[in-house]
Amino acid sequence: MGGGVHSAQQIKQTDTDDTEDDKDSGSDVDPCDTLLESLRMMCCCILPDGGAATSTSGTMTTTTTTTQYVDTSNTGKNSPTVYPDRYSMNDNQMSSIKLLKNPLKKDQGKKCLVLDLDETLVHSSFRAVTGADFVIPVQIEDVVHFVYVAKRPGLDKFLSEMAKHFEIVVYTASLNKYADPLLDLLDPKGHIRYRLFRESCVYYDGNYVKDLSLINRDLSQSIIVDNSPASYIFHPDNAIDCSSFIDDPSDRELDQIGSFLAGVRDVKDVRKVCNMWREWPLIPHVDGLHFPLQGGDNGGSVGHGSGVVLDARDEQCPR
Ligand SMILES: [Mg+2]
Repeated sequence: MGGGVHSAQQIKQTDTDDTEDDKDSGSDVDPCDTLLESLRMMCCCILPDGGAATSTSGTMTTTTTTTQYVDTSNTGKNSPTVYPDRYSMNDNQMSSIKLLKNPLKKDQGKKCLVLDLDETLVHSSFRAVTGADFVIPVQIEDVVHFVYVAKRPGLDKFLSEMAKHFEIVVYTASLNKYADPLLDLLDPKGHIRYRLFRESCVYYDGNYVKDLSLINRDLSQSIIVDNSPASYIFHPDNAIDCSSFIDDPSDRELDQIGSFLAGVRDVKDVRKVCNMWREWPLIPHVDGLHFPLQGGDNGGSVGHGSGVVLDARDEQCPR
């Protein structure tokens, strides 16, 4: 369960386990529905409409983990931070943004794995759900609501395995007041090196886009995993287009993605292979691939797209 400091007066828990009296009260308004807009604003990457932030000038500010673009054209103290806007910034302005510091020494040489959060790694809801892994208190307009979070099956193993091969970055369009405490719970061992939130997304055509050209990493060495195609519309060749996780306990997509990512960790250019992840390991040979070993991690062979049976040990490619 998530922690958090809040007074009893401030807490309003939204729970679908209402009493019969509540259900018969004559009100058709589901308290969860009243929060849908808030949920959309907080947890989803895509907004159907909404005000585009206009930023024509700004400065770079550095936090402990990220460098963010902060708009200074709007001097209102309560609304100083916005996201880069593709419509109002030229290429030079955009290219000056570096959302991430250089990789840590222990991550140098690794590819960068950019992970979406909602519906990719977890599903979150204001509705109380049985089996939720975490409950995060989030304050919205002076009221603390509880967000129920379910981890996608296989998430813990996925993060620990991917951390061996990749520099992991979570890049979410959600607000940090929700995502930051959640990531503290999801990643107690610190596998995730950097966290990027909504203010680091680019507002483009009504969507919050995760612009990989801004993260200060080689695009040939960067992969994004995201359930929303609009999030990676600028770099589709770098994307693994996972399905949306809601509540399916038999979901095993992280296992498949993890196997693929481990296999492509040494390819020269990820953009040549990302679109083949669903067929993995039955894909054509590319230099640097590590095909999984049949019958376990330490032996065997596997067929691939060319129809040739490979000895996986022959595919090993030193970094
Ligand atoms: Mg998502």
